[in-house]
Amino acid sequence: MTSPDTVDVAIIGGGAAGTLTAVHLLRTGRPVRVAIVERTDRLGRGIPYSTTNPRHLMNVPASGMGGLAGRPGHLVEWCAAQGEPVEGAAFVSRPLFGRYLVALLRDAIAGAAVAPLAVRDDAVAVSRSGGRLRVALAGGGEIDATRVVLATGTPPAADLPLPAGAWPRDPARYLTDPWAPGALEALAGDDILLLGTGLTTVDVALRLSEQRPSARIVAISRPGLLPVTHRWPEGAIEIGYRPPPPGTTLREQARAFRAAVAAARARGADMPTRSTPCARIRSDLGGPPDADRRRFLRRYARYWLIHRSRMAPAASGWLQELRDAARLRIMAAAITSVADDGDGPAVRLRPRGGGAVETLRVDAIVNCAGPADSPFAGDSPLYRSLRAAGLARPHPLGLGMDTGPGGAVLAADGRPSGLLYTLGWLRRGELWESIAIPELRDQAGELAAVLS
Ligand SMILES: Cc1cc2nc3c(=O)[nH]c(=O)nc-3n(C[C@H](O)[C@H](O)[C@H](O)COP(=O)(O)OP(=O)(O)OC[C@H]3O[C@@H](n4cnc5c(N)ncnc54)[C@H](O)[C@@H]3O)c2cc1C
Repeated sequence: MTSPDTVDVAIIGGGAAGTLTAVHLLRTGRPVRVAIVERTDRLGRGIPYSTTNPRHLMNVPASGMGGLAGRPGHLVEWCAAQGEPVEGAAFVSRPLFGRYLVALLRDAIAGAAVAPLAVRDDAVAVSRSGGRLRVALAGGGEIDATRVVLATGTPPAADLPLPAGAWPRDPARYLTDPWAPGALEALAGDDILLLGTGLTTVDVALRLSEQRPSARIVAISRPGLLPVTHRWPEGAIEIGYRPPPPGTTLREQARAFRAAVAAARARGADMPTRSTPCARIRSDLGGPPDADRRRFLRRYARYWLIHRSRMAPAASGWLQELRDAARLRIMAAAITSVADDGDGPAVRLRPRGGGAVETLRVDAIVNCAGPADSPFAGDSPLYRSLRAAGLARPHPLGLGMDTGPGGAVLAADGRPSGLLYTLGWLRRGELWESIAIPELRDQAGELAAVLS
């Protein structure tokens, strides 16, 4: 057996979060030995920015999407330096953003004191090894690291619970990972049901409608609400809203939020969500769990999400064209059963607010409802090993993992680890808003300061 590679920092996951962590570490100019472990060929881009479809747009204007901490305008500067100038107000394509991330990493490597190790493999376990950590790889290799950063992004989608029946087992009939290369192309038939009405559904509906000119798509969720359309920059109007004072109840915050949304939109403005009650709800989520926070997750989070993760205006227009052509239908409904007799799934739906139960016969179903809440819920060997070793534990709200300031992972005994760190989606329980590029770049900058 070969001896393990030895590094200062091993980053598991080479999507935007892992890449920006490596970029910030390498840019410190200090001789930090870094390994990035990525199981796919998407190093630098991760899931959202590996798409080659130019209609897959960023959902935030370019002016705030720079990847370097303290430099939100860096993407716009980079585009200009490439000879491809973009307006700060533009919603650039995700393929372009993927190129930007890859370029950031390439440039950071070129200027680094020590070249990093890029490892194409699956990290399957992390264990203690003396005062360090050892990362085991599916291919049999090992990496000894002084510190490890978990940048594994979101876990796979969880099956929605079904009152009766079962989800089909054939991936051509029921697809759980719409990002798997070639999976959408392999779906059976043109009548397709999408579970969920969020941003993943927007992506998948656009891709399917291009791939299959005769596709008839139905997308369902309980509220049946698509993400709100951005009105930026025309809508970037100061609405003079101030968050409610401390001690305001959740119900009062929600009422204030709805009133502020209505007032903003009546004036043609977007909600500047960072200065609204959402910000308060988010910081409230950072404390110990209580009934209010659970109620927020149960009752309000879905409405909050459609305002927080909005759609680029062009994407909204393309969807509307599909709806006008009766190629896309959005339904507010709950699934009561699924039966598969070989002719394609028969899905029984109960419309929201009553009405007759409807049976929809489709060729295939795609789960676009988003990831499971906890990385520990599925069958990930990596997260099983972390838990078994007492190195990590789930967040009490069931969101991501339990973490402390600076992204330190909390061990089974609740103490912050000095060895294991994380960023992005896995800090959702602590921070709630911890997934978009601005959050990732700031967290990556903080991590680099601690780890270098
Ligand atoms: C469709 C979509 C559109 C989005 N659009 C925007 C947007 O416009 N603006 C914005 O700010 N945010 C957007 N987001 C949010 C987005 O999640 C973040 O911007 C960012 O891409 C998250 O990066 P990540 O590295 O955490 O996750 P990922 O991109 O999922 O990367 C994680 C990586 O870790 C690897 N990995 C996981 N486990 C292991 C393991 N055990 N061993 C080795 N490798 C492993 C995976 O292969 C993957 O490449 C979007 C998200 C989605 C899904």
